[in-house]
Amino acid sequence: MAIFSKLSRRRFLAIASASTGTALLHGCLGNPPEAANNQSAPVASPVVDLKPEMMPEVKTIKLGYLPIVEAAPLIVAKEKGLFAKYGMPDVSIDKQANWGSARDNVKIGSAGGGTDGGQWQMPMPYLISEGIITDNTKVPMYVLAQLNTQGNGIAIANKHLSKGLSLKISEQVAFFDKLKSEGSKFKAAYTFPKANQEFWIRYWLAGNGIDPDKEVELLTVPTAQTVADMKRGAMDAFSTGDPWPYRIVTEKIGFISALTAEIWKNHPEEYLAIRKDWVDKHPKATKAILKALMEAQQWCDNFDNRKELASILARREYFGLPEKILIEPLMGKYNLGERSIDDKSMAPLYWKDEKGSVSYPYQSHDLWFLTESVRWGFLPKDTLAKAKDLIKQVNREDLWREAAKELGVAAADIPTSTSRGVETFFDGTKFDPEKPQAYLDSLKIKRV
Ligand code: CA
Repeated sequence: MAIFSKLSRRRFLAIASASTGTALLHGCLGNPPEAANNQSAPVASPVVDLKPEMMPEVKTIKLGYLPIVEAAPLIVAKEKGLFAKYGMPDVSIDKQANWGSARDNVKIGSAGGGTDGGQWQMPMPYLISEGIITDNTKVPMYVLAQLNTQGNGIAIANKHLSKGLSLKISEQVAFFDKLKSEGSKFKAAYTFPKANQEFWIRYWLAGNGIDPDKEVELLTVPTAQTVADMKRGAMDAFSTGDPWPYRIVTEKIGFISALTAEIWKNHPEEYLAIRKDWVDKHPKATKAILKALMEAQQWCDNFDNRKELASILARREYFGLPEKILIEPLMGKYNLGERSIDDKSMAPLYWKDEKGSVSYPYQSHDLWFLTESVRWGFLPKDTLAKAKDLIKQVNREDLWREAAKELGVAAADIPTSTSRGVETFFDGTKFDPEKPQAYLDSLKIKRV
């Protein structure tokens, strides 16, 4: 959408009192890109009617992000002046050194020099709300939107090439047993424990009949060390967000055994969550942020925009990476090393996927992350009994709905249920959000 680049932020603000609103949206509805193309012209005026009842209480918020493709909608909302468009001209998007820093910064809040919220792996907002990863200090948070589905992968060191480590592991336990008996247990890493990246590698292993707690050594490695550690042979596998797995392939350090989109097609990935105290105090500003985010997600989702998206994310102040490493995964072109995938439906998706809304934060997905936490013994068994109440406190899908309506999102694009329904994984396992215990019962490898 050229209109974004042609209009300065000042121009956005100058015309913000006129109205019309949502015509802009229709040109951006992304997936599949072929359908969106026909609608992108003529360009409507990018104005928004800031009625008094929608005027944000504040013009600023500090949001953290990590340099992986999950952060794209936050960066685009800032870069394209969308936060300003909805009355929030001073939103600051701050790169976090790692997930631990992101957690520490939201714990102290912007008043203490930290952040008010930002990008999160699940179930971090729950673990922070409950004080589980914040030294028993409960910092209540609200999950407000999902940033993307898919876009992650499991990288394996080159020394394991041609040993049958793919989505399905051919030699199964024998391979891992052999390493164990040789005193070089398979080491699998992620940058933060007990969240998405650990869940994906655990799911991949367990779905192949390998007990991740017995056959494998799982470890947390700081982001900055991951590529170097794999290069020098200190780790065998690494679970992370694009473009890092792809970078490992292009630098000939390793290959990708599986995209997370293969493990669980259209799986929930990362989220926008903000401190409860900030949202409760600034409900209109929260909705302004959500509207800007949704519009950015629609822009990011359009594959016609992904080259420009790669060039924005590549910049020094954001990811500081060569654009060519970003563009291929963003287009769903994955050189996995042993095989390749060229399929836009496997790329990170930001607004719509085959299951419907990406941005809407389904409560059924929060429940899966909590159930999976129980599966691996990260959270106590009684979490399932409390899950419904916990999710009601943390997941504010109601605010997402209000913001979507204000933005003029078509009714068909607003989910009617808080559940996406039954989910199916690559090993055939099903998760019915109505019966989380039945899911746990069905699993062979678990700690509960
Ligand atoms: Ca991720």
